[in-house]
Amino acid sequence: MQAIQEIYPLLTTPRKVVITMHQKPDADAMGSALGLYHFLIQLNHQVTVISPTNWAKWLNWMPGCDKVVDFELTREKAEGILDEAEWVFCLDFNILLRTKHMAPKLKALNVTRILIDHHAEPDTPTFAYGISDTSKSSTSEMIYDFIVDAGYKHMLNKEVAQCLYAGVMTDTGSFRFPATSAAVHRMIADFKDQGLDHTKVHEHIYDNYLENRLRFIGHVLLHRMEIYYEYNTALIAITKKDLQRYEIKTGDTEGLVNYPLSIQGIRLAAIVIDRDEERKWSFRSKGDFDVNTFARKYFEGGGHFNAAGGRSSASLEDTVARFIEVVHENAASLQEEHSSTKS
Ligand code: 5GP
Ligand code: MN
Repeated sequence: MQAIQEIYPLLTTPRKVVITMHQKPDADAMGSALGLYHFLIQLNHQVTVISPTNWAKWLNWMPGCDKVVDFELTREKAEGILDEAEWVFCLDFNILLRTKHMAPKLKALNVTRILIDHHAEPDTPTFAYGISDTSKSSTSEMIYDFIVDAGYKHMLNKEVAQCLYAGVMTDTGSFRFPATSAAVHRMIADFKDQGLDHTKVHEHIYDNYLENRLRFIGHVLLHRMEIYYEYNTALIAITKKDLQRYEIKTGDTEGLVNYPLSIQGIRLAAIVIDRDEERKWSFRSKGDFDVNTFARKYFEGGGHFNAAGGRSSASLEDTVARFIEVVHENAASLQEEHSSTKS
């Protein structure tokens, strides 16, 4: 993989470009993709954003989201566009498997794949150019860096700012996590100069749920949360019935895993959801318990040091039993005296 700077001189030649991100894109994945889209179209590139799957309804306010192609929903159309593409930007993921059913297609394409991502352990041979930086708050921040470093700061407009702000706001837990650097705040100042209404973005994302989602959270916290104080660990296991009863849609379970982390002393919070095809895990930690390694080792996953995800093909009951077993195996590091938060 060549350094991302190597493509800066090539940006002036208009091309057919696809931008894609991980399956079930969150606000950073969708925000970074659409932020890059609104930049590249100013350079007259022919750009299409393709999402591997559907996404949460509350991302639809983002400018350009109505033009995003859903690979699962309109596969022929998406494959046609991919066949024509000269460049494919891969944002907010670093192994093709994270694009689910789109992965074989992405792999087979004879195109220039470009990586911009902040997760650990990138599969660099897959990409012709790229940048992978785990110290970055979000992929959205990396898109801002890309635009500015390439010499196009004057092309940061309101659309770019709105999309990137959504990504950095959500990935930093509203500017709370350690990766929220001075550079992040300087970037936000630039967005404000572009006329960004940050309150509106916050409302679009956090004050835009249906009643059922709040009732669902109540139900889950009352009936589905187990605390293992001896391991400083909390677990939420959500059944198919729960999802049906509360009509839970894509994105509705996002952020749930953070509730148990707010309990004094809890260092590891996990949530597992019984989806149709698999059991999907999310892990969060405080301090020096590394959930990226944990997810990789036990649950076919990965992510960041303090936030990761994974999956299991076992039944909900069996994967929960396995979780308790591996928590027991990791008792020593979970019980360690809480040291300072990783930065
Ligand atoms: P979340 O729990 O919010 O779905 O994901 C937390 C972080 O872990 C995100 O940065 C996400 O991209 C990553 N992640 C989630 N699931 C997986 C997975 O199955 N594999 C890998 N490698 N990363 C994941
Ligand atoms: Mn991200």
